[in-house]
Amino acid sequence: MTNSGRNIQSLQAQSHTPWVGVHVLTEFIFCPRAGLITFETKQEDDDNDDRELQGQQKAQLTYRPYYSLRPIEESLEKALNDLRRLPKLAGGTALVSFLLLLLTGALQAWLLALVIPALILIFGTFNAYPRISYFGKLRDMARKALPREPDPQSVDNTAINWWSLLAAGFDSVPYRDTLKDHSWRVAGKPWRVLRKGSLRIPVWRRRGEAENQAKIRGQHYARMAAYCRLIEKAEGGSSPYGIILFGNSYDGIAIANNQGSRSAFHKGLREARQVIKGKQRWERDPSPPSTGTICSSCPLGKPFTYRPGESDNRPGRLNTSPHLAFGDDGRAYHSECGDRFQWIPPHQKAFAKRLIKY
Ligand code: SF4
Repeated sequence: MTNSGRNIQSLQAQSHTPWVGVHVLTEFIFCPRAGLITFETKQEDDDNDDRELQGQQKAQLTYRPYYSLRPIEESLEKALNDLRRLPKLAGGTALVSFLLLLLTGALQAWLLALVIPALILIFGTFNAYPRISYFGKLRDMARKALPREPDPQSVDNTAINWWSLLAAGFDSVPYRDTLKDHSWRVAGKPWRVLRKGSLRIPVWRRRGEAENQAKIRGQHYARMAAYCRLIEKAEGGSSPYGIILFGNSYDGIAIANNQGSRSAFHKGLREARQVIKGKQRWERDPSPPSTGTICSSCPLGKPFTYRPGESDNRPGRLNTSPHLAFGDDGRAYHSECGDRFQWIPPHQKAFAKRLIKY
């Protein structure tokens, strides 16, 4: 057996091997302490933030991108109907005010008959028109996209556009249940899978990052390789690449499920198991990262003001006593990582607040 075959064989799970979620795994690759916190707080994969499924009304109000043509057309139709209804609504209000005038003889009814319909027309138009413009542009973008898809044989990353993939014949399907690979005890759920023939392509969104800011790091390659394996196990098709969409946009990148991505996944899984085992068997915590720069912008190390019974009792937080540090402003601060490992992470805000002195 080759070295790589032996390496893969060693990932076979035993009955005592812990289940590792894909999200947890990637946190371990980022930092073992972040991985352990995520594991202990049982944070599941959250790639199921599908606004189209969770509430179209909310999505319309916030103008989050839609990812299939039908809800876009429905939203456009609704906005057009809202606009068409305005004259009727304004006319009805004018009529009621006129009847009031006849019945009561109150002169203010004239005012109502003029002002309220005018307000309805103005505010109704201001409300409907931006939606019509937004969804109209979106519909055109979706309809006019040229079919284009990554080469399944390519070992390089390829820039993609969501609508071009759909135009190329992919069906986009959201997963509702977590996928589980019992042989390696890995679980997770991509945001969607794109299906075309025997191709099964996992899709994952990186929220809050514009395309030009998005950097693809080791944990992203590992995450994609993990999703590809889970989908291939669950559906039996082939996943030669996976897709990351950037923020609330329709652009992204296809990451090849090549040897490099798979190695990152396997290495991350081994490290995750090792740290979890160390904790479960010997109560051994992982050391802090050897370079402080990784902590400087880590959300788990960001200090926040200590409020007894509140800041130390937030939902999803581990039940650990707060590790307090006092700033030059006289306030007490703590952080999630600081509380869990009883230290002050070298976060940039910890320096700014003088919790750590240079
Ligand atoms: S603050 Fe530092 S040690 Fe803590 S989880 Fe973040 S990167 Fe890891």
